[in-house]
Amino acid sequence: MSKKSKYDDLEEEDFFDDNDQVLARTVLPDDEEMILPSMRPRKFDEFVGQTSIVEKLRIFIAAARERNEPLDHTLLLGPPGLGKTTLANIIAAEMGVQIKITSGPVLNRAGDVAALLTGLRAGDVLFIDEIHRLNKNVEEVLYPAMEDYHFDVLIGKGPTARSLRMKVQPFTLIGATTREGDISAPLRTRFGVISRIDYYSVEELTSLIESVSRRLQYPVAVDAAREIAGRARGTPRVAIRMFRRMRDVAQVSKKPSVDVETVEAGMRMLQVDRMGLDYIDRKILEVLLKRFDGGPVSLDTLAVSVGEEADTIYDVYESFLIQIGFLARTGRGRIATRAAWEYMGLKPPETYVAKQNVDYVQDLFNFDDLS
Ligand code: ADP
Repeated sequence: MSKKSKYDDLEEEDFFDDNDQVLARTVLPDDEEMILPSMRPRKFDEFVGQTSIVEKLRIFIAAARERNEPLDHTLLLGPPGLGKTTLANIIAAEMGVQIKITSGPVLNRAGDVAALLTGLRAGDVLFIDEIHRLNKNVEEVLYPAMEDYHFDVLIGKGPTARSLRMKVQPFTLIGATTREGDISAPLRTRFGVISRIDYYSVEELTSLIESVSRRLQYPVAVDAAREIAGRARGTPRVAIRMFRRMRDVAQVSKKPSVDVETVEAGMRMLQVDRMGLDYIDRKILEVLLKRFDGGPVSLDTLAVSVGEEADTIYDVYESFLIQIGFLARTGRGRIATRAAWEYMGLKPPETYVAKQNVDYVQDLFNFDDLS
């Protein structure tokens, strides 16, 4: 990286935010908050879980290093907060190279990506978050750069315009996305390694919380760590944030450690229930069940009814509700499962079962993009 800004090594979890939305995605740092230590693991050994992905990457990295070549272009798939950015940083560190970090929506013009590419040194990693949001012009610069380490730029306009071929040092593109289905086929086929990151188990998140507690030097009881982990929606980002909030609660009640009682009280304050569902999750379910009789309802309608952005509902809330079996995406929209009715203590209307069967049959014939 050419010039490091003081923000480079920091991340949103390193800051306390003002509202209590444990799932909020971005929080701007301010200077006072900069003094908090970073929780991001720097080596594979510090990275909790995802053993098969880590094992695979270790082998690919060792082989690439032996051949003195860059690692193959790598695509990391999965919901937010599961460690895609962290893995990209670890890969660069283990390869012993620099990493440049950017994201799809930021790279507006072909010139933006061209400037980034020409600034790379041999072996460097270019990390593009939300890679599904790249526009077509930018993608077209990337294709030959990824394949043959060059790209063409058009200089001038009209009849005097000419094309200039620019060379790029051999590099590794690491793309991350929450929307596997939105990546264009030509881009996808240019990745040599594609890894899907899954939600973490309660055991994995418990050990993550214990290690964060050690690093923050604020002890946590084992059963309290488990209780937090059980409500953290399989997501390290959420687990770390929740632990920090619980530490706040413990600290103001003058407790030397985070115990189960603290967690119970803290979670009540955050309005997070035993399953890890928060206010918005419950609102989604309520709208779906009470206003739409369990669905099907489109993502946009759901978003408007709940008052959240469709993207956030899709990436953060819906994917977890699907994971725990409360929601299903069908060809005609989202439907609530029987488990969701039971969880919310509501009785499905008689039409519900018949409607579900219709949805099922329709799905057999409908392979359209469901987003
Ligand atoms: P993503 O890029 O998938 O949204 P991040 O890489 O930003 O997720 O991870 C979110 C937070 O969770 C980071 O602070 C990181 O420290 C932590 N984290 C994620 N995965 C792990 C892991 N496997 N082990 C330890 N910490 C993790």
